Amino acid sequence: MRVRFAPSPTGYLHVGGLRTALFNYLLARQTNGAFILRIEDTDQSRKVEGAVQALIESLRWTGLDYDEGPDKNGGHEPYFQSERLELYRRHIDQLIQNDHAYYCFCSSERLEEVRNHQIATKQQAGYDGHCRYIAKTEAATRARNEPFVVRMKIPESGELKFEDRIRGKISYPLNQMDDQVLLKSDGFPTYHLANVVDDHFMGVNMVIRGEEWLPSTPKHILLYQYFGWDLPEFAHLPLLLNEDRSKLSKRQGDVAVEDYRAKGILPEALVNFVALLGWNPGDDREIFSLDELIRTFSLERVNKAGAVFNIEKLYWMNGQYLRSIEVNDYLNRAKSWLADSNFGDASDDLLLLVRDSLTTLADLPNHLGPLIAGVLDITDSDAIQILDAPATGSVLDMAIEIINNRGDSPIDSEFIGSMMKQIQNQTGVRGKNLWMPVRVALTGKIHGPELGKIAEIYGNDKFRQRMQKAKEIRSRRANNNRGGRR
Ligand code: GLU
Repeated sequence: MRVRFAPSPTGYLHVGGLRTALFNYLLARQTNGAFILRIEDTDQSRKVEGAVQALIESLRWTGLDYDEGPDKNGGHEPYFQSERLELYRRHIDQLIQNDHAYYCFCSSERLEEVRNHQIATKQQAGYDGHCRYIAKTEAATRARNEPFVVRMKIPESGELKFEDRIRGKISYPLNQMDDQVLLKSDGFPTYHLANVVDDHFMGVNMVIRGEEWLPSTPKHILLYQYFGWDLPEFAHLPLLLNEDRSKLSKRQGDVAVEDYRAKGILPEALVNFVALLGWNPGDDREIFSLDELIRTFSLERVNKAGAVFNIEKLYWMNGQYLRSIEVNDYLNRAKSWLADSNFGDASDDLLLLVRDSLTTLADLPNHLGPLIAGVLDITDSDAIQILDAPATGSVLDMAIEIINNRGDSPIDSEFIGSMMKQIQNQTGVRGKNLWMPVRVALTGKIHGPELGKIAEIYGNDKFRQRMQKAKEIRSRRANNNRGGRR
């Protein structure tokens, strides 16, 4: 299959765009076909500086590599419509020659008047055909001096029928379709013309895109017919919805791939997550690598109904990926995240220690911070409550005594286990009152990795220092409180 992803550069890669790109990519790889990236940048009024670069970079990050495109600087470049204007112009001329399109000289004021009149008299909105019947030679002469657009001639009656791979049989009454502009007054083609011409010349035989493009498809099919070209197949993907089933919007959360990247989501998790937006594998499996997706994906299992974007699930998946990727892979990604966020270094031991508690890479600094800090800092109110609790003093005293007796013999999980049992036996303190003081003394927090593992990485000296420091902070607080009461 020859397929394409044809985004207009709006400034970022939308997650809906990523899903479109992914489904195209999967079919191209599954069928040993081609996945083409085509930048649809013919709308000069919507140009955004740096948008194309951002888009390509986001796509590169997701790992969906594209084929073909002109070779520049030794690598593939996507196709840019703005570099193919000549091709579109020739095809516009051909349509005019064959009476399938015509010059339109209507001013924007006139079009506005027509529209207002249509609204006032409750008529169907659209171009009223004013220039459609100007004699061809006269129109060609006027076009040399007057500003114009070129419109396509839509037949006045009949139905346009086609089959969509996802939505089945579709039929549009032609008399409800507007004489669509194909060439704008700035000389640039509209989406419709450029899209069809390119799909034909790039040999695209399957068009997969979002449902919002469905109403454009009958116009495209007419253009194929006017040019005498073979039709591709069409598949329109269901809309993406917010939890409240409204159309997915920026207002209710992030929609840009870049945003998820910045939040510490892994590309594999995002790709896996968007794969399940509208497609179901037929069983209850949820975790799919890209290779597995290539093997399992099929358009037959894409639903018509809108797909709800469940952000909780994305975070859950990301946690799964963080824990399941290869150890070195995890370490590398964690380190480059920390470097990018100017956090500084963390040892492999520490990175592995916090791995199980991460949901995203962005959680790293929070989890590592207390473990790395040179001095113990207790600011959390929950942790302070533990520190001030009556039993905490004797627990810390005994922990210090036991570690002192331990001498230089290294401490590990097993040692911590027996230490806690000993403290429990001698003081009668148990459960939360027993464990929490040690945890707070080690990290300043009430949640975190397993105590034994922290102790093992800290070693005897740091362990002892932390216990002592916690005791100091505790006594200082007690003194201050007594002072306050006097
Ligand atoms: N340029 C359109 C977009 O921004 C392409 C739609 C299509 O795939 O035909 O999504």
